[in-house]
Amino acid sequence: MIALSTAITLGLGSMFTIQHADAESIKEMQEKTKKIEEQQSGVKLDINRADQDINKLQNQQETVEQQIHRLELAINDSTQKIAEKGIQIEETKEEIEALKAEIIVLKDRIAKRNELLKERAVSLQESGGNVSYLEVLLGSSSFSDFIGRVGAVTTIVEADQEILKQHEIDKKDLEDKQKSVETKLNNLESMRAELENMKSQLTAQKGQKDKLMAQLEEKEDDAHELKMNLKEEEENLAAQASAMKEAINLEKNRLAELEAARKKAAAEEKKRAAEAAAAAAKQSAASAKSSSGSSSSNTPAVTSAPPVSSGQFTRPSAGRVTSQIGSRWNKFHAGIDIAQSGTVPVVAAADGVVIRSYLSSSYGNCIMVSHSIGGQTYTTVYAHLSSRNVGSGQVVAKGQQIGIMGNTGHSFGQHLHFELHKGAWNVSKTNAVNPLNYVSM
Ligand SMILES: [Zn+2]
Repeated sequence: MIALSTAITLGLGSMFTIQHADAESIKEMQEKTKKIEEQQSGVKLDINRADQDINKLQNQQETVEQQIHRLELAINDSTQKIAEKGIQIEETKEEIEALKAEIIVLKDRIAKRNELLKERAVSLQESGGNVSYLEVLLGSSSFSDFIGRVGAVTTIVEADQEILKQHEIDKKDLEDKQKSVETKLNNLESMRAELENMKSQLTAQKGQKDKLMAQLEEKEDDAHELKMNLKEEEENLAAQASAMKEAINLEKNRLAELEAARKKAAAEEKKRAAEAAAAAAKQSAASAKSSSGSSSSNTPAVTSAPPVSSGQFTRPSAGRVTSQIGSRWNKFHAGIDIAQSGTVPVVAAADGVVIRSYLSSSYGNCIMVSHSIGGQTYTTVYAHLSSRNVGSGQVVAKGQQIGIMGNTGHSFGQHLHFELHKGAWNVSKTNAVNPLNYVSM
């Protein structure tokens, strides 16, 4: 029972009663196996789904990675262009500086020209008295003088006009240059602003893609974790399924052994009954022959095993109860004593598994059997046997002979010391119960 129930408990977490397990528990275990198999296929589907999710997430990540790569290229490109524009802007600014220098030169030239004009006017004043050209002309003393004066004035006027014209051309040239360079600077600056705008848009897009990428990676991590958990569940289910298979096999073997033990016990009982009947017939024949002869034979009597009773436990041997459970000689007597002379078979009180079959200095030849009845474990002890018929791990049936009553160990006179424990046997025998409350003697 110990080894068997341990194996089963490991796999199923439930106990099987030795007495009532039978076909029903095998059917139960087969149903459980079916459920486990259903769970296994469910988990397999979940694993497939997780794999598909992982694939999908990896494909999405690849796409996003390509997008990020393209964005990075575009950002690099715009960064380079912005740098180029920066250089051009610097060049243009330098051009403007150069132009400003030129303007200073030109202003200087204009100032010099104005000076020249003033000088001319002064020289005219010196030659003609008043500043006015008209006065110069009106002051002419004769026609030829007038002609001469007109010629001079014309030359002066023409020179003045020439100077003024040059002045205006220079001024216009300067203004044009300034305008075009300023336009160029404006264009460059707006181009640079556009590029910077584009770059910031690209950077924002990349930021979104990076975020998406991180989310996809996290999702993939989750999917991997889910898959790992599912794999673990799959392994657990596989272990459960194989434990269940093992348990079903053990239960089938146990039932087969129990059946064989029952048959053997039945055959033995039949044989013993026949022997007893034959002995009785022989004895009555002998007593008929010599009515005054000795009443009993010299050979020790062979007692038959007690009939198997219908309760949970059957009587372990024939005989008289000579000692009860309780305090005896300042010690706790954990069982009852049953005494009978002759060859007295000792039988298993219920279906069970032999957990110990050994020679003890106190118990003598001793057998312990573990039973599970209605979900409760019991342990029976049969002590002081003269011989043992069963070994540890053997399955025994209720009423099956397991040994012969004896006087081994700490015993004075042939008897069976019988203990019943509700639960496991322990050294302090705290689980001992009165067998007479369970077995009718
Ligand atoms: Zn005893």
